[in-house]
Amino acid sequence: MSPLPCGRSIDELVAYLADRDDPELTAHVAGCAQCAAELAELEDRWSSVRLVAVTPVPTPPGLVSRVLAAVHGVRPRLGSAPAGFDQDGGRVSVAERAVLAVCRRLAVELATGLGLHVRGTAVEDGELQVLVAARYPAPAISVADELRSQLSRELVEHLGDAAPVVHVHLIDIG
Ligand SMILES: [Zn+2]
Repeated sequence: MSPLPCGRSIDELVAYLADRDDPELTAHVAGCAQCAAELAELEDRWSSVRLVAVTPVPTPPGLVSRVLAAVHGVRPRLGSAPAGFDQDGGRVSVAERAVLAVCRRLAVELATGLGLHVRGTAVEDGELQVLVAARYPAPAISVADELRSQLSRELVEHLGDAAPVVHVHLIDIG
């Protein structure tokens, strides 16, 4: 995004909204109509993000920390199935891993195309949970929703009946 006519950037104003600990910027903003207008708009977008984050798709308790833990290397069951395991449990486990691999690859591919960053993916109770981060609040809401529908479509194409229900959680912005 381009800077405001007064020379301040949107990034600076987003940071200002987050912590307001820059006295020099605080003084500037108090007397700058351009910043005031931009801040009002940003505040507006942030409040709708907060609203969206808590209302339509509640993030299951503990999900974010579980998925992020998995992303950061704690994967207790990965690779634990013995080779040549021929019982139902073994095949299911392999199939689950294959499904998760496809889900991850598609989620990252589609999210990148939409300007989102995938922080983690997990399949829980047969449903795919995707955690994404975005740079700016306003487009992030519709883009996260777009990711959900694109990913659902692609997964059905690749996995048919094995395609999980997809949930996309916007976990942070900036
Ligand atoms: Zn300004």
